[in-house]
Order: sequence, then C-alpha cells, then structure tokens
Amino acid sequence: MTPNTQAGMTQAFVRSTNLALVLDRITRESGSVSRADIAGALGMTRSTVSRLVDDLVLGRLVVEGEAIGGLRGRPAVPLSLSAGTVVSLGLEVNLDRIVATVVDLSGATLGVAKEAIDALDLGFKATMAIATRLAGRLLGQAPDQARLAGAVLAVPALVAKDGRSVVRAPNLGWDGLDPSSMWDVTFRGEPVPLRVANDVDCSSLTLIQESPDASFLYLTGEVGIGSAVSMDGQLLSGRHGWASELGHMCVEPGGAVCGCGADGCLETVVGRPALLAASGQKDLDALCIALDTGDERALLAIDGAAKALGIAVGGALNLLDLTTVNLGGHLGVLGEWLNPLLAAELDRRVLWSTYSEIELASVSQAPLRAAMGAGLAALAHVHADPAAWVEPLLER
Ligand SMILES: [Zn+2]
Repeated sequence: MTPNTQAGMTQAFVRSTNLALVLDRITRESGSVSRADIAGALGMTRSTVSRLVDDLVLGRLVVEGEAIGGLRGRPAVPLSLSAGTVVSLGLEVNLDRIVATVVDLSGATLGVAKEAIDALDLGFKATMAIATRLAGRLLGQAPDQARLAGAVLAVPALVAKDGRSVVRAPNLGWDGLDPSSMWDVTFRGEPVPLRVANDVDCSSLTLIQESPDASFLYLTGEVGIGSAVSMDGQLLSGRHGWASELGHMCVEPGGAVCGCGADGCLETVVGRPALLAASGQKDLDALCIALDTGDERALLAIDGAAKALGIAVGGALNLLDLTTVNLGGHLGVLGEWLNPLLAAELDRRVLWSTYSEIELASVSQAPLRAAMGAGLAALAHVHADPAAWVEPLLER
C-alpha cells in the first residue's frame, strides 16, 4: 500500500466516524439540535460540523427544520432524522402471532401487518410462508424514494451471533433452523436478506429509542418469559449474544418441568399458561375480572407470581444494580395487582433498596414492540456507517 492510499483510507475512516458521531447526536435529540449544539457537544469546529451535516442532508438521512431565534447571532436550524427515505422491515414470529412492520430512520412506523396464528400447529415452513407474504405486501407500500436498509425477524429464541439461524427456541421449537432458507422477499427486484434476532432484545431497542441512555431490566410475559438488559442504552448481550434469559432462572427447585428441560424455571410459574392454570381462569381478561372481584384463587396466584418474580428479578437487580424494571405482555397488564406485591418482595430482597428506589413500569404496546424493534435493529448499520448511505447520493 502506498502512503497516499493509506492516507486516503485514514481520511475516509475519519470522515465516516465523524458522520456517525454527528448522526448519533441528531438521533439522540432529533428535532431540537442545531449545528452549533453538535459542534459544542462533540468539540468540533462549527464549519466541520456544518460540512458533515450538509452531507447527511444531501444523503437524505437528515432534514433541516424552520430556523428559530436569531435575535443574537445566527438563527438555529433544528435538525431531524429524515422520514421515509431509508426504511427497514421488522418482523416478529411468536407462538400466537406474526407481525410485520416497515419503520424508517426517524423511528416512525410506516406500516403494520398482523396475523393471528398457531405457530406450533402450522410448523416452520407454513409460518415462514405467512411472514414472507406479509413482508412482501408491506414492502409494496413503501414510499417511492425509499431505500431499504434490511430485514430482521424477531423470535423468542437464542439466535446465532451472526443472525443467520435460531440456536434454541424452547417454546417455538425452531432449534437449529435458518428462517432465511424459507424466505423469498424482493424489493424493487433485489432479494432482501433476512437476519434473526432475539425478540425481547428487539423490544428493548424501542425503549432505548425513547430514552437513549436508559438502563433497565425488561421482562415480558407470553407463553414463556422473555427478558433483556440495557446498560446506559447498550443491550447486555454476553459472549454469544445469549445473556439475560431470566425466564429460565430457577425459582422453585423440584417444580414443574420447563420447555427447556430444567425444573422450576421462572416461566413455569409466571408464564401465561402457568398463571392461568394456577388461578383457574381461561384467559387474561377473565383473570383481570376475577382479580377485580377479589377472587381468592386468582389473588393467591398473583401472590405466588410476585414471590417467584421477587426471587428472579431481585437476583438480577442485586447482580446488575438496575433501578428500572419494565414489565410487558401479561406481566404489564397485571401490573395493578402484581406490582405492589412485587415491590414489597424487591424491597426485602435487594440489598440497596433502602438507598435507591426501584421503579416498576408497565410497557404499553408490548406486542408491537418486537417487530418495531426488529426494524430498528435492521437500521443499526445505517447509524454505524452513514457514509455508505450518503456517498452514493453525493456522487450523482
Ligand atoms: Zn426453562
């Protein structure tokens, strides 16, 4: 390599890194950040930031708003992430549903398609055929000028680190399968590659989007119990990407056998079927009504759930020093009855609970979040390397 090409590569690397830093500032404060704010935050000169912002605007990743102020100095032009110019496909397969979404760089959801299914009854091939159909239909409605960043499928499973295959899915039973082998979706004549990701990690990305430096434990109740941990806005992934499986923490040694093969896992006590069986109710609505009317068996079931959650969540908080626990799925819906009991358990079990408050929050729209977050995951490489998306438009 000649010194000149080396210098050229270094320059390209610096530019690419700087574009990503500027885009990150705009992502964090979309709609309320100006060139001067970014220059101040990043310690760059205003002219350097201005050139980088101009390129992001020409590359259609960022848009300028109406100038505001201007009594003293130049008026500030607020910068936002561009809507509808770069989009991605986010999908979720769960036991009872398939959800497909198209999201854009601004985080807006441009389209949603849902279908209720029985994934165990349908099997892998037929389920993926429905996912393919929903995805094709949604992409057909994407804005004319949109570029597609990719597609991610969220599954209740441990997935391979490269996002190619499902490793272990105790409730779905897709162990070792590669969903992209059953995927045939094109966008403007080009095949759309598909990656897989853990569903709760994807859901957590929507919470991080709302609060970019958030630290929390996210616990969501479906048939199983999914969980994820965010530390300062970064998902805790572990060495293989398999961290945060709180649903398989043992809370009852010698208890019921779990889908994973072990006994007494958290999800054997607070997973939806387990909780409904313990309360003697046929579905979640019936359970809520029973709790409202003070049904003794239903209240006892919630008490048992709070104790089991107290062991698992208390252990996680002692280990990780997190103060926010976000509850989704049926755990979020049951918050009114569950949270006071769980809070008491955590007060007792978490060593530092008298010094720092533990916040229990119910997450709204939990069933949509995995698919929306999968879309955000598919956009991650645009945020990591905006130069790759900007340069083709600058060369025209
Ligand atoms: Zn288990």
